[in-house]
Amino acid sequence: MEVHNVDLTISAVRPAQYPQDGLPEIALVGRSNVGKSSLTNTLINRKAFARTSSQPGKTQTLNFYRVEDQVYFVDVPGYGYAKVSRTEREKWGEMIETYLSQRDALKGVIALVDARHAPSEDDINMYNWLLYFEIPVLVVATKADKIARGKWNKAEAVIKRELDFDPTLSDFQMFSSETKAGKDEVWSWIENHMQ
Ligand code: GDP
Repeated sequence: MEVHNVDLTISAVRPAQYPQDGLPEIALVGRSNVGKSSLTNTLINRKAFARTSSQPGKTQTLNFYRVEDQVYFVDVPGYGYAKVSRTEREKWGEMIETYLSQRDALKGVIALVDARHAPSEDDINMYNWLLYFEIPVLVVATKADKIARGKWNKAEAVIKRELDFDPTLSDFQMFSSETKAGKDEVWSWIENHMQ
């Protein structure tokens, strides 16, 4: 998709605040700092539309970006802040669980992991949880420019093994917001899941 027009439409916590216009939604999940804002900005050809490196302690909301009046990208706040209180963690969990498990407009989830490392326990839990709810998942391994091309297959194998990757319900893509590697493939996956 050639993107010219994007707006931050809505920040929502509760279902009553989600958009009502019936467009398909693709959510992005991953731990803080994995490269979620950078992926979003790459997909929409912007340098700094989605905020980068969100601060711990900031209000955690679902951010719905309307892209070309055709699809919403839903930025799900990153997991893995050690410092937030248990109450905040519980509120975060409830908001995300409600959205991901009950939203009819949700057509797929892009789950980001760092290409350089084995997935964290949070990454593994999130992936399994999405499969449990039978939500199509694209696992995107970010920061691929930080490892040599010759090692991409090995990195992919490690990630798939640790996730216990299920190819019937999910796809995998190496990605770099520095080189734009994988951008077209991520867009194709999104377009295939928008119906
Ligand atoms: P978020 O917290 O998940 O939204 O992560 P950001 O998009 O803010 O990225 C966190 C840090 O990783 C920033 O310093 C980015 O510049 C860097 N980063 C993100 N994606 C890439 C990538 O593909 N390659 C490299 N080399 N750095 C990246």
